[in-house]
Amino acid sequence: MDRNNPEKRMRYLIVGGVAAGASAAAKLRRLDEHAEIIIFEKGPQVSFASCGLPYFVSGVIPEKSSLEIMNPEKFKQILNVDVRLHHEVVSILTDRKKIRVLNLKSEETTEESYDKLVLATGAESFRPPIKGIKSSAVITIRTIEDAVIIRERGKTIKSALVMGAGFIGLEVAENLAAIGVKVTVVEKSSQLLATFDPEMIAPMIRSMKNAEIDIRLDTEVTGLEELESGKVKVEFKAQDTLETDIVLCCVGARPRVGLAKNAGLLVGERGGIVVDNYLRTSDPDIYAAGDVIEVHHRIDSSIILSPLAGPATLQGRIAAKNIEKTETKEYCGVLGTAAIEAFGCTLAQTGLTERQLNRAENSDYRTIYLHPDNHVTYFPGSSTITMKVIFENNSRGRILGAQANGVNGVVRRIDTIAMAIKLGGSVFDLEEVDLVYTPQFGAPKAPVNVAGMLAANRIQECNLFVDPLDFSFSSDVCILDVRNKSEHETERIAGSINIALGDLRNNYIYLNPARKIQLVCSQGKRAYAAHCILAQLGFNTVVLTGGLNTFRDFVTSGLIPKTRLESHSPDASAGHLG
Ligand code: FAD
Repeated sequence: MDRNNPEKRMRYLIVGGVAAGASAAAKLRRLDEHAEIIIFEKGPQVSFASCGLPYFVSGVIPEKSSLEIMNPEKFKQILNVDVRLHHEVVSILTDRKKIRVLNLKSEETTEESYDKLVLATGAESFRPPIKGIKSSAVITIRTIEDAVIIRERGKTIKSALVMGAGFIGLEVAENLAAIGVKVTVVEKSSQLLATFDPEMIAPMIRSMKNAEIDIRLDTEVTGLEELESGKVKVEFKAQDTLETDIVLCCVGARPRVGLAKNAGLLVGERGGIVVDNYLRTSDPDIYAAGDVIEVHHRIDSSIILSPLAGPATLQGRIAAKNIEKTETKEYCGVLGTAAIEAFGCTLAQTGLTERQLNRAENSDYRTIYLHPDNHVTYFPGSSTITMKVIFENNSRGRILGAQANGVNGVVRRIDTIAMAIKLGGSVFDLEEVDLVYTPQFGAPKAPVNVAGMLAANRIQECNLFVDPLDFSFSSDVCILDVRNKSEHETERIAGSINIALGDLRNNYIYLNPARKIQLVCSQGKRAYAAHCILAQLGFNTVVLTGGLNTFRDFVTSGLIPKTRLESHSPDASAGHLG
């Protein structure tokens, strides 16, 4: 085709102008200077920063204009893309390759023809069908206007109830708490941040409790009633009620597929538009990208929704490439790499969780826990990171997932592992890769290297580690804590005895060689050193992975009964210990 001939230039129409739509438009322009490109956006802004909205509520992001990354003028000037705000695409006439557009201001409807169409209609906040959910005191957070309303209300209210303890719910809760609002977080399931394994969110629970957030798990809101006082009465399934000034509904989002469905495009079981590897819908002239589509998980190929800005932007770009030249670039799927920072605690994850792998039915994988410092402790300001790495239990050692929490340096470790997973890497790669070390940024044995070493040890020495959930309290097994006496006195696993690592060579004779020994220390390092001593002396030993720190997180998250952890109790007796 002669692209310079205006009669033959391509006409690309894009529905939705945020992450996926804006990215598709920008890439299409870079690939085709002559095409006519139009974005139809029903809202009042194009390409705004939804991820920043919770931080606008508290004023961390002070100016609304900071959230407006682009505007129609800039789109025209920089990219020669025509952006039509307040224009809702109401139907697609696939047989005629046209869309019908409603101008929401003039209420006029027009038809526009396309050569290729991109659907980037995103997702919409879900409101569960309960009494009073449509009340004006119940607010969702999806647009800049929502954030402006919450910020304004935040200036006068004293209390707020956040429904839903996912990423957005907790970010909103943190920002409301930061401006002095008393926040209650209510979650229907038994866990906050359900995309993580439960023990990995234990520090977030502790941080939220320190911030005096009222967390109510296993709590379902069944009704909402606006009272004459201006407050909202919240009714729970358990028959109790609570009065609050405002309700933030953060219970998830649903792909906006109405337009696609009405046009006869295929929508999948997860509720998103079905696309092929080139992000083509079931109509070859219509592509789709972003929160509105279903994607495959890179590790297990499962079909999922992955409503995140990074994938949405990448998909927009890939759709554009394939529009410009058919089947140029395949979409590689997602790893679910994500992070949240709230209440002074950062959590990050990539790949599959243990819950997704289904521990009860799957014995093909193993996990390790570790608690390295984000940088060497001799340099001021270090803090601990807790990491969990999940990997195939075979000589290949493919990495399946990783999660981490801490204060600083958490995201960097997860991003590193995400790249390793993308490249099909193994725990042996984590062990060997050379990573940055300067005192303020790391350690000669980088946390990611240590994770690889532990995982490699676990694969090569199959009975080296025991997981907290498999830890035995049977009388045939000795629990030997090798921390110092004072540490053991302060907090310990119920039934454990204590010989400090430094005393072990002189005191192992008191241990019963006929009994299996479970070795415990705070993080696993001293227990591993004790294992090396005792195993070479003929003892049958295993090391508690992640040590007492991980065990405590299992207790905090309710996976292990509280009675298994004792605090401030008298010292274990001396004599014939095991
Ligand atoms: P959207 O951003 O939903 O945009 C779709 C657009 O299409 C909308 O503007 C809509 O008005 C328009 N539209 C829909 N239908 C039509 C129609 N028929 N005609 C015309 N226009 C239409 N992701 C992260 O990765 N990290 C984060 O930290 C993060 N934080 C978030 C915080 C909040 C509060 C929210 C709400 C989301 C957050 N996300 C985050 C998710 C991220 O914002 C989305 O994944 C991303 O915006 C998806 O982009 P999208 O283009 O697919 O859809």
